[in-house]
Amino acid sequence: MFTHLALSLCLAAGAAAPRNVVLLIADGAGFLHYEAARLHEPDPTGLQVYDGWPVRLAMCTPPDGGTYDPEQMWRDPAWCDRDPTDSAAAITAMTTGVKTVNGRLAVDPRGEPLVTLAQAMAAAGKSTGVVTTVPFVHATPAGFAVSCRDRGAYLEIARLMLGGELDVVMGAGHPWYDDEGRRCDVADYSRVGGAATWDSLVAGSLGAAGEGPWSLITARGQFQALARGPAPRRVVGVPPVRETLQEQRGGDLLAAPFAVPRNEAVPTLAEMALGALNVLDEDPDGFCLLIEGGAVDWASHDGRAGRMIEEMTDFNRAVEAVIAGLDERGLLGETLVVVTADHECGHLAGPVPAHVFLTGDHTNSLVPLFARGPGSGSFAALADDTDPVRGPYLDNGELGAVLVGAAGSVVGLRSSRTDGPAGSNTNTGRDD
Ligand SMILES: [Zn+2]
Repeated sequence: MFTHLALSLCLAAGAAAPRNVVLLIADGAGFLHYEAARLHEPDPTGLQVYDGWPVRLAMCTPPDGGTYDPEQMWRDPAWCDRDPTDSAAAITAMTTGVKTVNGRLAVDPRGEPLVTLAQAMAAAGKSTGVVTTVPFVHATPAGFAVSCRDRGAYLEIARLMLGGELDVVMGAGHPWYDDEGRRCDVADYSRVGGAATWDSLVAGSLGAAGEGPWSLITARGQFQALARGPAPRRVVGVPPVRETLQEQRGGDLLAAPFAVPRNEAVPTLAEMALGALNVLDEDPDGFCLLIEGGAVDWASHDGRAGRMIEEMTDFNRAVEAVIAGLDERGLLGETLVVVTADHECGHLAGPVPAHVFLTGDHTNSLVPLFARGPGSGSFAALADDTDPVRGPYLDNGELGAVLVGAAGSVVGLRSSRTDGPAGSNTNTGRDD
C-alpha cells in the first residue's frame, strides 16, 4: 500500500530525518546478480559487504499500470518477462514516489513534469551529485536530476543537467575516446551536450547563473586526487572512455571475470564516488548523492556473465568505499544509505554458480534493497507484502516516498521547470 503523504509528512516533521542521503543503484541487478558476484569475489572481505545492515528487504519495480504478482512470478516464467519497467520509469518512481510509463524521466503519465529528487534536495539547501559507470545522460542519473519526456534526448538532458543545481556530475561519454580508451580522430559530443557545451566545459566557462562554473576533470589521477583535501565547488568528471568505464572494453567479451586486463586509464566507480563525496561534504546543510553501477544492466542484456560479475564487484567496492568515506568523516550516523536496483535484467537463473541468462531484457523479478542510517527504519513497515521466496517487499514508489520525505518535500509537488522536447536529437543507443 502507498502511504506516501503520511510518510513524507512524518519525515518532514523531523522524525529521524537524515542530513545526507546516498542512493546506490546497481542497474539491472536482481538477487542472483548479487549472489553471482559473491561467489566470484576475488577479495574474501568483500563477501560481507551487506552483512550487518539493518534493512535487508526486497522491492518490486512495476511501471505505471503494472503490479507484482508473487504467485504468477514463481509459477509462470513468461509472466516474469512480460511488460517490465525500463530504467526511466523506475528511477522516476524511486526518486519522486510517482509511477510513470516507460521512457519518461520524472514526467508523470499525463506528461506533467515532476520535481526531481535532486531539485527537491537542492531546494532544501543540500548539495547534490550523480556518479555513474555509463554516460551521465543515461536514464538513471538523468531521472534523478531533471525532467524529460524522452529519455533518449541526450543533448537536451546533458544541457539540463549541466545547467541546473547539481554540484557533481560524473560519468562516461568522453567525446574524444572510444570504448577501449583510444583517442579518436573525430569527436562524438552526443553524450556531453554537444560541441559548444563541451568546449565551454573545457574552457571552464560553463555554469548556471548563481551556481558558479564547473571544474572539468578527465584523468584518473584527477579523480583520485579529488578524494582528499580542498575541492572545487562544482565538478564534472568525464573519464577518457566512450560508453562504459570497463564493460565495453575489448578482449574476450565472454571471458571469466577479471581475466581480461582492465583499462587502467579510467577511475574505478569507488574512486569517482570518493571524489564526489569530498566535493559534497563541504555543505553544512548536507547532500544527496546518486551512485550507479550502470553497466551491470548492459552486461546482462548481452548475456556476458563475466562482465556482469566484474561490474557487480566494482559496484560493491564503491558501496564499501562510500561507507568507509562516510565513517572517516563522522557522517555515517547522519546519512541514509540505500542500495538497490531499478529492475532485474536477464532473468538470471540457477543453479549456482553456473548462472544463465534466460532473456536479454528486463524482468519483473524482485530486486534487493539494503539500507542503513537515519530513516531506514521506515522501510520495514512499508514492506507489507510477502513473496514466498524473497520475503517481505515494498514497492519502488514507496522508496521514492521515503527519499522525497528526506528532502522535506510533499509528494506530488509539481515542477515549474521546463522539460525537454519530445523526439528531437533522440539517440539511437541502447534502451536500458
Ligand atoms: Zn536495461
